[in-house]
Amino acid sequence: MLLNVCCAPCALPLIEIAAEKPTLYFYGANLYPAEEYARRFAAAKEVARHYGLAIYEGPYEHDAWLVYIRSQLPKPPESYGENSERCQACFRFRLERTADYAAAKGFSSFAATLSVSSHKDVAYINEYAQALAKRQGLEYKTFPIGAAEAHQRGRELSKELGIYRQKYCGCEFSLGTSSKGQGSRKVL
Ligand code: SF4
Repeated sequence: MLLNVCCAPCALPLIEIAAEKPTLYFYGANLYPAEEYARRFAAAKEVARHYGLAIYEGPYEHDAWLVYIRSQLPKPPESYGENSERCQACFRFRLERTADYAAAKGFSSFAATLSVSSHKDVAYINEYAQALAKRQGLEYKTFPIGAAEAHQRGRELSKELGIYRQKYCGCEFSLGTSSKGQGSRKVL
């Protein structure tokens, strides 16, 4: 199983309960600035090292992400709040690339830390990912843990392991807006 990781704290509780050892795929085209991307990737690598998991890094294609986000919205992206149509476009972009990567590398299934984000539309994320999986002949996996519980466990494990916890969702439009709980979670 390929697990899309956009931040380490959300990955921790999922790795802990996963029925099989996942391969991590860090994909953070949405992240801004590049220094924040580097911080989150370093944290994900630390998690992989701790659990003895393989980790791959997707391309940091923030410009392509931005072009896509703008193409999907009738108004400037900065005029949308968190968990809006802008975020749905962001989910699509990231999930599509994850499914493509999983299929190209011969994985039979994929999952995403996005699926336990307590400040995002998890139903939308899962529905879209399921459709992608079907299209690619893959299985999309979810986890038997609620967003609130995953958030709490992610906080605990991050603290215990000294893992970096970000303060905002990830893109430039969320920078400086502290969503509740984002101090430890992700984002999405
Ligand atoms: S706030 Fe988070 S989910 Fe929404 S567009 Fe920005 S990075 Fe993506």
